[in-house]
Amino acid sequence: MLHAFLDLIFPRICAGCEQPLELNENQICTDCRFELPKTNSHILPDQQLVNKFAGRVNLKHTLSYLKFIKGGKVQNMMHELKYKGNQDVGEMLGRWYGADLRENGFSAEFDLILPVPLHKKRLLIRGYNQSDSFAKGLAESLGIEWKNDILKRGVETETQIKKSRIERYQNMQDVFFVDKPEGLSERKVVIVDDTLTTGATLESCVIALNDMGVKDISIIAIATAS
Ligand SMILES: [Zn+2]
Repeated sequence: MLHAFLDLIFPRICAGCEQPLELNENQICTDCRFELPKTNSHILPDQQLVNKFAGRVNLKHTLSYLKFIKGGKVQNMMHELKYKGNQDVGEMLGRWYGADLRENGFSAEFDLILPVPLHKKRLLIRGYNQSDSFAKGLAESLGIEWKNDILKRGVETETQIKKSRIERYQNMQDVFFVDKPEGLSERKVVIVDDTLTTGATLESCVIALNDMGVKDISIIAIATAS
């Protein structure tokens, strides 16, 4: 009753198609849910995706839940998640993909989920890391742990001083490091990101983990742009 009343005054809209949601729908409408452009890269490896990392870093699984199409529904969902504070969308997509993975025997393939950290300045402005919500949803469905205080992004201060402004800027963008590396080399880590384009960010994260002796690494993106 209250929900129906609130829907009337503040219509909730679908993060995909922007149409009003039915009472029993949450964030993403039923039509959009069934029309999600899935890659199914967990069933049949997506060679284009795999090739982005080939010869660069070793990955156990290279996965992306959805296809990112410019102007499409997934772009709307990502916009909601990244710029409209709608973390529920990320969590929901994480739960759905986690369920798909579980049904296809992936539960034992990973035992620790690490979201790609956001740059500190951006985190301050946005107030949250969009990859955290996806990690949380995945962790819930797969019944495994996720942690956002292990993989960190920051500045290596000592070496920064001698560098030019542009170099410093580039370096800031790229520095990932591992905090609390204890026992990490024994874990089956999966790094998660929102949209995968060139793969450079994920590659840097993998290298940071490799440096700490972590060998069993997979990646999952919410969406990939080809
Ligand atoms: Zn919709």
